[in-house]
Amino acid sequence: MLEKLEEENHMADTKHYQVLIIGGGTAGITVAASLRRNQKGKDLSIAIVEPSEDHYYQPAFTLVGAGAYSLEKTRRSEGSLIPQQVEWIHDTAVNFNPHDNQVTLASGDPVNYDYLVICPGLALDWEKIEGLTDTIGSNGVCSNYSPKYATYTWQCVQGLNKGDKAIFTQPPLPFKCPGAPQKIAYLTADHLRKKGVLSDCDLYFCTQSSVMFGVPLFSRELDKVVARYGIHAKFQHNLIAVDGQAKQATFEIVGGEKPGERVTLDFDMLHVTPPQSPPEVIKSSPLANEAGYIDVHKHSMQHIQFKNVFGLGDACSTPNSKTAAAIRKQAPVVVKNLLHLISGSELEEGYDGYASCPLTTAYGKIIMAEFIYGGKVTPTFPLDPRKERWLNWWIKVTGLPIMYWDYMLKGYEWFFKHNNSYVEPTK
Ligand SMILES: Cc1cc2nc3c(=O)[nH]c(=O)nc-3n(C[C@H](O)[C@H](O)[C@H](O)COP(=O)(O)OP(=O)(O)OC[C@H]3O[C@@H](n4cnc5c(N)ncnc54)[C@H](O)[C@@H]3O)c2cc1C
Repeated sequence: MLEKLEEENHMADTKHYQVLIIGGGTAGITVAASLRRNQKGKDLSIAIVEPSEDHYYQPAFTLVGAGAYSLEKTRRSEGSLIPQQVEWIHDTAVNFNPHDNQVTLASGDPVNYDYLVICPGLALDWEKIEGLTDTIGSNGVCSNYSPKYATYTWQCVQGLNKGDKAIFTQPPLPFKCPGAPQKIAYLTADHLRKKGVLSDCDLYFCTQSSVMFGVPLFSRELDKVVARYGIHAKFQHNLIAVDGQAKQATFEIVGGEKPGERVTLDFDMLHVTPPQSPPEVIKSSPLANEAGYIDVHKHSMQHIQFKNVFGLGDACSTPNSKTAAAIRKQAPVVVKNLLHLISGSELEEGYDGYASCPLTTAYGKIIMAEFIYGGKVTPTFPLDPRKERWLNWWIKVTGLPIMYWDYMLKGYEWFFKHNNSYVEPTK
């Protein structure tokens, strides 16, 4: 009897929100702000579960690693970004029970919801590379993938001299921003060129992939950039171990004529892009597909099985490039469809797989890669998308951060549209 009473009291205490958002990163803040800005969403009770005190503008980490942006400018306090009248639950989701519309927090508290939006991003699996956690941040082993190590990348780049060897690695897809592992290679090469030592250094780009980039139009341009700098591109090379003391990196050959063979290379600098996957709590939940990603419809962003659940951002199953640019186009679809669901109207299949990757090929030069599902090129501006441009550099360094902090995270929709009827040049 006492137990039943306690249980009833506990249930009465359980928090309940109409919309519960898991993760206050790029996607979570954008969806919350956009709901608040919408006439139909502004009175909903909304909460965001987010454990972190800091929110980072991750796309600028590449520039931080190249000494072209300060780390401090990439960081804002999470509290300053949570929209007004959205409750911040400063905790971590540790269990999902979508059958009962309930999430359990690390504190042990359950939270109930009518609608759930999940966007916890990707986990960085440093430990999957033998020896990496012992040496990352020292011995010339760096990474732009964490604010902890991005400034060390710049130290390593500056430390390179005549005769030195630098290696840049790329793991199997999916990982955040498919261009980021090679962008830092080009910026390093350009730095060495300016220093007058590029031809005396050896630069290696070791990628698990068999091409430079998944979209052929841009891959062909990047082949030329690699040749221009004299970078050795090593395809189907997957980093499996690092020995920081000995300054050696070991790769497994995946495919080709010698699958399974191991190759060890010496280095003075090693830039690692770690393997990435959804957080464990997603992988082990009923919300995940076989690969561990939040199983959503690729155009509507609605969960395949649980219709009051939406997923977006890096942790969801949609086969687009995992970028903030993709979230800029996914978030309005999630918001519209959530409001449609509440009002009982038809859902829209509005997300076309758009992603954008500003490929920094040199200081002051960027190829703006924009594309949708199937690798179809869809530029926003009426300019040849293959060209390296200073304008694109300005957009990356100045325009996009303003757009991120002052528009996207404030719930405004971007007014430029990408061109889906662009015809790719045949030559
Ligand atoms: C080096 C680098 C370069 C990049 N370059 C570009 C670029 O040029 N252009 C571009 O568009 N994109 C770029 N990106 C990618 C972009 O930053 C990400 O795609 C985007 O930030 C992902 O947003 P998200 O909301 O899905 O995840 P995140 O922004 O990572 O946020 C996830 C949030 O969920 C929280 N969380 C995790 N687990 C839980 C849990 N169990 N409970 C509650 N909260 C949880 C985390 O603390 C985090 O705050 C780059 C990324 C990196 C690292």
